[in-house]
Amino acid sequence: MESALTARDRVGVQDFVLLENYTSEVAFIENLRKRFKENLIYTYIGSVLVSMNPYKDLEIYTKQHMERYRGVNFYEVSPHIYAVADNAYRSMRTERRDQCILISGESGAGKTEASKKVLQYYAITCPASEHVQTVKDRLLQSNPVLEAFGNAKTLRNDNSSRFGKYMDIQFDFKGAPVGGHIINYLLEKSRVVHQSHGERNFHIFYQLIEGGEEDLLRRLGLEKNPQQYQYLVKGNCPKVSSINDRNDWKIVRKALSIIGFTDDEVEELLNIIASVLHLGNVQYGGEDSGSAYITTETQIKYLARLLGVDGTVLKEALTHKKIIAKGEELMSPLNQEQAASARDALSKAIYGRTFTWLVNKINDSLAFKDDSFNSKNASVIGLLDIYGFEVFQNNSFEQFCINYCNEKLQQLFIELTLKSEQEEYEAEGITWEPVQYFNNKIICDLVEEKFKGIISILDEECLRPGDASDITFLEKLEDTVGGFLDKNNDLLFRNLKEAMCMSENKILTQCFDREELTDKKRPETAATQFKNSLAKLMEILMSKEPSYVRCIKPNDAKQAGRFDEVLIRHQVKYLGLMENLRVRRAGFAYRRRYETFLQRYKSLCPDTWPNWDGRLVDGVSTLVKHLGYKPEEYKLGRTKIFIRFPKTLFATEDALEVR
Ligand code: ADP
Ligand code: MG
Repeated sequence: MESALTARDRVGVQDFVLLENYTSEVAFIENLRKRFKENLIYTYIGSVLVSMNPYKDLEIYTKQHMERYRGVNFYEVSPHIYAVADNAYRSMRTERRDQCILISGESGAGKTEASKKVLQYYAITCPASEHVQTVKDRLLQSNPVLEAFGNAKTLRNDNSSRFGKYMDIQFDFKGAPVGGHIINYLLEKSRVVHQSHGERNFHIFYQLIEGGEEDLLRRLGLEKNPQQYQYLVKGNCPKVSSINDRNDWKIVRKALSIIGFTDDEVEELLNIIASVLHLGNVQYGGEDSGSAYITTETQIKYLARLLGVDGTVLKEALTHKKIIAKGEELMSPLNQEQAASARDALSKAIYGRTFTWLVNKINDSLAFKDDSFNSKNASVIGLLDIYGFEVFQNNSFEQFCINYCNEKLQQLFIELTLKSEQEEYEAEGITWEPVQYFNNKIICDLVEEKFKGIISILDEECLRPGDASDITFLEKLEDTVGGFLDKNNDLLFRNLKEAMCMSENKILTQCFDREELTDKKRPETAATQFKNSLAKLMEILMSKEPSYVRCIKPNDAKQAGRFDEVLIRHQVKYLGLMENLRVRRAGFAYRRRYETFLQRYKSLCPDTWPNWDGRLVDGVSTLVKHLGYKPEEYKLGRTKIFIRFPKTLFATEDALEVR
């Protein structure tokens, strides 16, 4: 048998806290590399799970694997996403405390896959009745639906989530999943009308075109060729080798029925999706006066039918802007460029609001409706799968929001990790040794502070459009990055809103509320909305006990087996993993409950073998003295032994092997 020593050499340590040289980034990366080579994609930093995307299917997600992780002690089995899922579940059950699992990492690092694994784990291992089975199915089927409408092929990930997602899974007192609730964040609406080279629009468009039955497509007025649609040709990438749109279409259709969408609702939904494609093909010509007129009558005909709006009204709305001067309403004609951007704004608004409607609809179906069950008594496990830091060649409003979100999550992470360390020391009666760390509060303040923060200034700037003489910092910013003010304003002309309010499409009437038209209050800007929803998210997360999964992408080529050191080092840095390790190692590298420790090593001491009858702490004390531990190497807490250096533990582990 291979000795523990050489095994450690080959596969590295399964917990970074056991690295001898824990402050060395080189040693950290080497450990990742060794494990990655052996297909060991999971490694802990204490209770944090670091996960490397293998870019290939590993045989580690079978039912047998799930069984192996059920109810066992976190550290006794090799690191796994199931261990995190199981640990959260058990803490929820035994301590009656709500949990959350926060999954972070850059695009393509494996966040969404990890969150699906967690959901599958609960769906398979938790107790079930007939009703619970329905909930489980709906929870699972919400994924393909949300991915169809919210994911797209990007350069970084063939199935990239273009929205952030927080999902609560509610459990009853027996530990069975009985309901769920989803909150979505900041869908990347701009993708509906434009895609960068090599990228696609949201999957659903291609699924419908490739998979839709002939009579369905005929009814929607769609051709079976994505290249016919202006909104689908920008990225010049209609087909992706890893994606089977036709097959996915079937999966999505089935998922929609399992979740409980009626045939009518599906029809209305597809009418909207087709309308967006038709809108994209609406073209303009220009009068001598400069006013735009529509040259594509067929599109208007389809739009009028699919949206249930009067064609003339729609045409006017797509070429004019309603202004109110001296109490009178006037229709002012738009030029070609303005009309095209009004059209795109409408497409984005329709798609974005329909997506929100979809999430609400799924939530209705996941809500627990039995009166005997009081959802206040439910325990909850939250799953956060949200975009990681993004730094591109060109960074825009979306990157600003996404990176701000990550700073908030980092802040929460630092606070909670330090807090839980401190709490454990206190609970165990061991003196806390303060740790120095980088507090990113100043960055968050820079963005979100009242009056002085970037969002405040941005909002203020949005209040005075056209004030061109005022050369402010933000105008300069606008010059360099482009589109910030527009995206923050996210305006849709009033008459387009009015046209949508008249729609006979039942989904759209829910999306475009008439009250919005009479509301005199200025609508909240995109950044302010995002800031507020983040603040709410932080509150939700703060009230729960967190587990962390930190995902790392091994290379940019989406290839198995390739370990791109530069790329990985970069992620280790901004995920703050070294800092995390430092905090975790500040005091003691290793800690275990007495019974676990004694059980594992009792054979090394004649006094504790085969059984120790006295108090556990005395047994452990006897054992480590026999092993020659020096007083400065360990501390005994109330329920756990704390060992300062990995080498002490390794010597003990090796003693087990030689014996
Ligand atoms: P993210 O959500 O972080 O952007 P995804 O979870 O969508 O990334 O992962 C991107 C792709 O990487 C997946 O489509 C899949 O091909 C691959 N992948 C991610 N995690 C795993 C895993 N655990 N096993 C196998 N392949 C994976
Ligand atoms: Mg994702």
